[in-house]
Parts: sequence; structure tokens; C-alpha cells
Amino acid sequence: MPVQPIRFFGDPVLTTTASLVSTFDKELRNLVSDLLDTMHEAPGAGLAAPQIGVSLQVFVWDIEEGDGHLINPSLELSSDIQEGEEGCLSFPGLTYETVRSLKAIAKGFNMFGEPVIVEGTELLARVLQHETDHLNGIVFIDRLSTSERKIAMADIRNSDWFNEAIDLGSSPTVKFSPHSLKGMAL
Ligand code: ZN
Repeated sequence: MPVQPIRFFGDPVLTTTASLVSTFDKELRNLVSDLLDTMHEAPGAGLAAPQIGVSLQVFVWDIEEGDGHLINPSLELSSDIQEGEEGCLSFPGLTYETVRSLKAIAKGFNMFGEPVIVEGTELLARVLQHETDHLNGIVFIDRLSTSERKIAMADIRNSDWFNEAIDLGSSPTVKFSPHSLKGMAL
């Protein structure tokens, strides 16, 4: 299936709450396939449907333990936290120390409409939180402290991808990132 252009921060689709999937049909399975292909091409460790301009509650991931997808997720989070660098395919080249819960349990559905539960710790827990946030119109810099977020906004204003989008007068999109994503972008 085709690799899709990835939307960058500044595109309104990234700050919009995605709609619940109500029909588990071939179109949905094609969307999951497009997300996996686009994530692998980038490359990234996770990708949510709004990042390719589709405002539906669907995301995929691929980490060392394996790949997966989840539809209409809801999360239960541990009070234990983890620290660590986090990036996002919609913010090419930028990573920040982002505090997340250490463990996450995500309940949702697979692409055939069957209920599934995904339990993750550490990186998988981080991915589940980052991608579920995307479905709720939240991006990872929203999880930073006020002072860190200010630094991130300055980095974004100085980035090539943000300024190119402004020059073009359009929503920022490119086929893939020209920058290193450090294998951690989500
Ligand atoms: Zn992301």
C-alpha cells in the first residue's frame, strides 16, 4: 500500500480530536496498512492516523518486541513514571525529555473489530501514550513543562520544515523527513 505524506506540526489535523471508527471494513484495513508502510519508510516507532491527515482513532507501532495496531483506544496509566527522550514524526529532528507513565494498559479493537488489550511498559507504554494523545489532538510538546515547551516552540520556529511550510503558505507536509529521527520518533 502507498506511503502517505506525513503532516507536520502546524497542520490543524494534529490538534483535532479524531473520530471513533464505527465500520471495520476493507478501507480501515487499508488505512492500517498505509500507516505501517509510512511508519517503516520514515522510519519511526509509531504513527497515528491524523499524522497522515486521516482524523480517525487508529494508530500503529513497531518496536523491538514487534509491531501492532490499535483502534478506538482507551488508556489506564500507572502512577509510576519514566523519563526519557521522545520525538515525533510530525516534529522532524526534534526530541525532548518527556515524562510519561511507566506502564500503560490500552483497551481497544483490532482492524477486524475484535476487542484487544495491549499492556506495555517503558517504550511500548510511551508509544501507547504518545499515539493515544495524537488521537485526542494532543502533541508531545504539550506534555512538557512550560519552560521546556517555550524552548521547543523556539526550535520549531527555527526549523527548516516549519519555515518551508510557511513559505509555501500551506499545511506543512513532506513525503519523509530529511532529518535524523534517532529511531525514536512517534
Ligand atoms: Zn507523534
